[in-house]
Amino acid sequence: MRIVSLAGGIGGARFLRGLRAAAPESEITVIGNTGDDITLFGLRVCPDLDTVMYTLGGGIDEAQGWGRAGDTRTVKDELAAYGVEPQWFGLGDKDIATHIVRTQMLNAGYPLSAVTEALCERWRPGVRLLPMTDDRAETHVVIEDDGGRRAIHFQEWWVRLRASVPAHRIALVGADDAKPAPGVLEAIEAADVVVLPPSNPVVSIGTILQIPGIRSALEAKAVVGVSPIIGGAPVRGMADACLAAVGVETSAQGVLELYGSRLLDGWLVAEQDAGAALDGVRVRAVPLLMSDLAATTAIARAALELVR
Ligand code: GDP
Ligand code: CA
Repeated sequence: MRIVSLAGGIGGARFLRGLRAAAPESEITVIGNTGDDITLFGLRVCPDLDTVMYTLGGGIDEAQGWGRAGDTRTVKDELAAYGVEPQWFGLGDKDIATHIVRTQMLNAGYPLSAVTEALCERWRPGVRLLPMTDDRAETHVVIEDDGGRRAIHFQEWWVRLRASVPAHRIALVGADDAKPAPGVLEAIEAADVVVLPPSNPVVSIGTILQIPGIRSALEAKAVVGVSPIIGGAPVRGMADACLAAVGVETSAQGVLELYGSRLLDGWLVAEQDAGAALDGVRVRAVPLLMSDLAATTAIARAALELVR
């Protein structure tokens, strides 16, 4: 079986571990979110691609959910000693090596898809990891503070402000001119099943869906989604702040309607959300907490069964 999964960072990566275990014979292509990407200290950082790569490759900091296991912060501390900004973004020393390799290759002219493939030769994630696009398309958030209304990079809103300032608007700057990365549309076309993991529906999945051509390609396929919202709350993180920005209720029903029946054929919800319903979408309720690999594998299996 050929499976395509979209993915953000932590939620997507955790789910993919279960998907890989649920379908060991399958060929899995992951289309990763690059809307969170940012250039810091001259280095190109792709947090979601790296989270997927480290998680599936066995290098992730398990407790934190992102970054490298056993990492140190020497470079970050040294930069801070020089007073260099920004200081709010977490960059471990081992992680910085990844960003140096990536930046060197990008500067040498390789597209991000080729760079990602090269990095994965080390990590061997067991899936084919593609960025959604090789073009620059970054998520920006319009906020209002003492300085008036202004747009800031998603990472500044998410990491520095912890999404505590309401977002008036969330926009993927550059989306209109972005093209799907090589292999993305081909993988969707060849897929037997497409899975939307319980990643952030606005700034992870929603971002990938904004790259011209991806949503319409997905609409032609059997697509099953896993709700990132359980009983009215995002399990981890601040997805509610993103949903509020796009006027969607933080509920399994709200996200179901956001994705809609043109895209979804199946929607997996938690047992307390069993009432979720939308014409044309098969809904099933199962435990959705990704507490360990066994629980996550059961979720992935249920998702595949729902549309098979
Ligand atoms: P990020 O890019 O690191 O924020 O990660 P993702 O966008 O891939 O996933 C984040 C989302 O995962 C959060 O907004 C939560 O709603 C969802 N999530 C985290 N843990 C769980 C879980 O155990 N079960 C479910 N159903 N969703 C989860
Ligand atoms: Ca992310």
